[in-house]
Amino acid sequence: MNSSKNFPIWHPFTQHAVLPDMVHITGGEGAYLTTKDGRRIFDGVSSWWVVTHGHCHPKIINAIKEQAGRLDQVIFAGHTHDPAEQLAERLLELTPSTLNHVFFSDSGSTSVEVALKMALGYWQNIGNKDRTRIIVLENGYHGDTIGTMSVGERGVYNAAYEPLMFDVTSIPFPAPNDDDATLAALEKACKAGDVAAFIVEPLVLGAGGMLMYSPDTLGQMKAVCEAHDVLFIADEVMTGWGRTGSMFACEIAGIEPDIACYSKGITGGSLPLAVTLCRSEIFQAHYSTDRSKTFFHSSSYTANPIACAAAVANLEIWRDEPVLDRIAGLAGMQHEWLVRIGDDERFENTRQCGTITAMDLKVRDEGYLSNVGPKLYAFFQERNLLLRPLGNTIYVLPPYCTTQADLDNVYGAITDAAEAFA
Ligand SMILES: *Cc1c(COP(=O)(O)O)cnc(C)c1O
Repeated sequence: MNSSKNFPIWHPFTQHAVLPDMVHITGGEGAYLTTKDGRRIFDGVSSWWVVTHGHCHPKIINAIKEQAGRLDQVIFAGHTHDPAEQLAERLLELTPSTLNHVFFSDSGSTSVEVALKMALGYWQNIGNKDRTRIIVLENGYHGDTIGTMSVGERGVYNAAYEPLMFDVTSIPFPAPNDDDATLAALEKACKAGDVAAFIVEPLVLGAGGMLMYSPDTLGQMKAVCEAHDVLFIADEVMTGWGRTGSMFACEIAGIEPDIACYSKGITGGSLPLAVTLCRSEIFQAHYSTDRSKTFFHSSSYTANPIACAAAVANLEIWRDEPVLDRIAGLAGMQHEWLVRIGDDERFENTRQCGTITAMDLKVRDEGYLSNVGPKLYAFFQERNLLLRPLGNTIYVLPPYCTTQADLDNVYGAITDAAEAFA
């Protein structure tokens, strides 16, 4: 084995003993990355689900350049600036009418931590101190910080940290065409009376395996929470910004959350930024001349002006370009290929939500640590495709500028992979 001094950089979610060589990237344009050794790689995972319109969209890059020359960073406690003001105004126009306040942070995980703190702070400040429990959906993923791991699925990737995590109530993931057990468990948990909030990824559970459930079930879960006065937190960190076919997944179910988290595609995938939006009641519960009721949360780079300017540019692209048409076109092309994959008996559980498709390769050892995962990853790398299977689950989550030829190439390789590994 290599000595550890050969790895000055410790990469995320990377087992260096299995994957010693990093792919060295020098550029990005549209749906493609270029490597130091001169290859062009198709970015089939939108660089971990963040890139929406393609790499280095000129409007976003120009906005970053302009803002960088004007104001790089300023403390956001007691101060404000144009990019944050513009972004907040536009976000409140676009998002459900129940959401009236924007809290900035810098990653999806922190936007979820903020959501959880808002929920507990709300109940605490209105004098209902017993409401502290969080309900979660089985197989969920909300980040890798201690709090977000606590509300996510427990497994090999967080077992070592279990002693640091808090207790939650988990309800079963809905079975296909039968959500009775899920809704009954949610109802039972809500009735206990000690619940602060239910947190859920609407329609698609990303890192949990690209698992999908129906808008109807999402709507029913919202109704149960509403009936029991339980705050409904929508983690749209991955599903937001067009991924599921609408700008936000909650729109498809016709629901309006009490708290919502958005990140990943908020800057088109160019710079880290996140927001947590909430209802007036939650802000009001913290609004007081009693300073102990302050919302005690910040990070150094809260609402970084350059990141906010990138997000404003992203929203201008949404306003000025036919983004939803592009998404519908991509979803249609994805659908055609998925139908063909569905006829191939080496795959099962073919599924789609908007621009995302997923399929499970039939192998003997299934699951996240399935040995086929790293083999598939290497197989696609050799074909200049960036696909990062979750165990034996292959998913395709590409930028919206992806063409038919790109997809033909991707699914051709997926079919070849089945030949090699199924
Ligand atoms: C990626 C993700 C997060 C965490 O976001 P980071 O920016 O990686 O911290 C949270 N929730 C969901 C649903 C995600 O997909």
